[in-house]
Amino acid sequence: MFFAHVDSRGFRLHSRIPFPLDIIGSRYEHVLMKLLGMMTDAEWIYRHRLSYWAVDKLANQVVIPLIHGEVMTPREIEHMVYRLEGEGHTMALGICECRHGENNMEQGLVDGCDPNYTCVMIGDWGKGHLYTYPQHYRHTTAGELAERARFWHDRGCVLTGWGCNTIHGFLASYCHCRPDHCVPLRNQIKRGNKVFYHGYNYAVVEPGPCVGPAECSFNCLSHCYFGAIEEREGKAFVDPSRCYGCGQCFVHCPTGASRAVRREDYEMPYCAPDLLR
Ligand code: SF4
Ligand code: SF4
Repeated sequence: MFFAHVDSRGFRLHSRIPFPLDIIGSRYEHVLMKLLGMMTDAEWIYRHRLSYWAVDKLANQVVIPLIHGEVMTPREIEHMVYRLEGEGHTMALGICECRHGENNMEQGLVDGCDPNYTCVMIGDWGKGHLYTYPQHYRHTTAGELAERARFWHDRGCVLTGWGCNTIHGFLASYCHCRPDHCVPLRNQIKRGNKVFYHGYNYAVVEPGPCVGPAECSFNCLSHCYFGAIEEREGKAFVDPSRCYGCGQCFVHCPTGASRAVRREDYEMPYCAPDLLR
C-alpha cells in the first residue's frame, strides 16, 4: 500500500506494484491505522517534549510523505468512478480501515447505507482487499458509489482521495471521512499535521443571502472541520487559504449563501484534472 501512495512532490511511481504487495498491504492496513490512531489520540505523547518530537518526525517525515490525501467533491467522485468503471477497473467497497483498526466492526443501515462501508479501494489495491477480506469487501458499481458519495457528503463526511495508483498514476482509494472515525482527518484537526491537500475549489459566502451565524445557529462555522470560517461584521467569511473545499458549509447553509470557486493554476497531486472533468 505504501508503494501505491508514493506519488508525492516529485517522486512519481509509474510501474505496477507486484500484486503480492497489494495482498500484504491490504491485510495489515488496519494495523497501521490502529497505530496512527494511538499516536493521534494519546495525550501523554504531546505532554512530553521527546515523545512529541519523535512522533512529529515520524508523522511528517515518514508517514505523511507516503500516505497523503486530498479533498474531493461528490461530482468529482462521480466522474471518477464512472470513468474507472468504463475502463474496467476493480472498485471494492468495504469496511472503513480506521474502524477496522479499532475493531469497531458494527454494521447496520442508516437510511439504506451501512455507516461502516465507507472505504473504496481501486484497481489492484481493491483486488487485494477483495482477496484478503472477502467478508468485509465486495465489488461495487459506479452508480452505487456516486449515490453513496452524495449520501455521505450530505451527512457530514469529507470525501478524500488517497495516493497514486497503478491505474494511470491515479488514486489507490477514496473514503468518506468524519473526524469521529477517520484517523487522518482527526490527526489534521487535533495535531495540525497537513494530511490532506486542498481540493480544486474553495468556498465563498455571499453576504446578501447570508443571514449571519447568530441567526442560523452558527451552522457553517460549526460544520467546517478545518476552521476556515469566521464571523465578520455579522456575516460568515471564508479564508480561502484555510478552506479545503470539502463542501460541508454548502450542505449546512439554510439559505444557500455559499458557493464554490475553482482555484486558479492548481492541480491536485493525485487526481488528474482530466479524470475529474
Ligand atoms: S469553508 Fe466550507 S468548503 Fe471550506 S473547508 Fe470549511 S466547510 Fe469545507
Ligand atoms: S450557514 Fe449560511 S446563512 Fe448561516 S452564517 Fe453560514 S453562510 Fe451565513
